[in-house]
Amino acid sequence: MALQVTGLTVRYGDLAAVGDVDLSIADSEVLALLGPSGCGKSTLLRAVAGLERPAAGSVCWDGCDLADVPVHRREFGLVFQDGQLFPHRDVAGNVAFGLRMQRLGDRSERVAELLELVDLAGYQRRRVSELSGGEQQRVALARALAPRPKLLLLDEPLSALDRALRDQLAVDLAELLRRTRTTALLVTHDHDEAFTLADRVAVMMAGRLVQVGRPGDVWRRPVDEEIARFLGCTKIIAADAREGVLRSKLGNVELPEAADGALRLGLRATALHTVSETEVGAIAAEVVRRVHRREHARLVVRVPDVGELEAIAPVAAAPAPGEPVHLALDPDGIAVLPP
Ligand code: ADP
Ligand code: MG
Repeated sequence: MALQVTGLTVRYGDLAAVGDVDLSIADSEVLALLGPSGCGKSTLLRAVAGLERPAAGSVCWDGCDLADVPVHRREFGLVFQDGQLFPHRDVAGNVAFGLRMQRLGDRSERVAELLELVDLAGYQRRRVSELSGGEQQRVALARALAPRPKLLLLDEPLSALDRALRDQLAVDLAELLRRTRTTALLVTHDHDEAFTLADRVAVMMAGRLVQVGRPGDVWRRPVDEEIARFLGCTKIIAADAREGVLRSKLGNVELPEAADGALRLGLRATALHTVSETEVGAIAAEVVRRVHRREHARLVVRVPDVGELEAIAPVAAAPAPGEPVHLALDPDGIAVLPP
């Protein structure tokens, strides 16, 4: 393992902002630390960077304890929510900042290479104040990558950008990290961002790591209700699995990987779709509320014996509040939880 965090605890007075965390990142792996605001993600990242002194535990790189290694000697790159660029330097001056030790010619070659990598070729002489938010974050990324850091630490790097740009930059960043084989720890509260970028996701709640796994596994099999709700499940219902079929009050659905026995289903809005009344197994319900989204209408429906649930309908044929509706389960919107 490249990075090995063991029993790490960071305190602010009586508060353990990070409590007894074990975490490892392999060479070239991108790990996303995902959790709600205030759960201790930035504190953990800062302790890895050397900006926070742990009360207990260790941070090791390639088996060497970093306790006595100061921030600038760890050779880790840092990118924060707002790029923290130097306003009085141009783009090239910012990117070259981490290359002070190198010869001038090598430096400008490396700057050009980095700007090309982040899709800003030719931006060397541009003033930082003339860049858009997305461009500034690309420059911050180029600056962090320029000295070839052993580990890239990213703290909510896209959170200050608007939604469409964030989605695009997340895809670009994922591609760039893979192409450069960068080992990275990404902190985010946004599950879309975590799942777009990461090889593995570590979910953090109230200072503790509560689940670590591949993005698809964490998404489909959160280990408890709190994580399921954080990952978008708005309703949890009981179910029973037999031979790959889940039976619940909302009907049956095939889920081949489910083990036989009692379990719970976490339902995201996309777990229930409107269907025709004649569809086999359709569940009757009544529409309570309707909100139009870009790609579908989102309904709150009332199902007898189950209560209020979210569901989605095609924009063109979305039923109005008070109208009857028929629903079917979609396995894509379902998470499976232990009973
Ligand atoms: P996150 O990045 O997940 O939003 P943080 O790591 O910033 O969470 O904060 C975790 C907890 O530690 C919060 O309760 C926060 O108020 C507290 N905290 C963070 N930094 C400090 C500090 N410098 N002094 C005291 N408390 C802090
Ligand atoms: Mg934070």
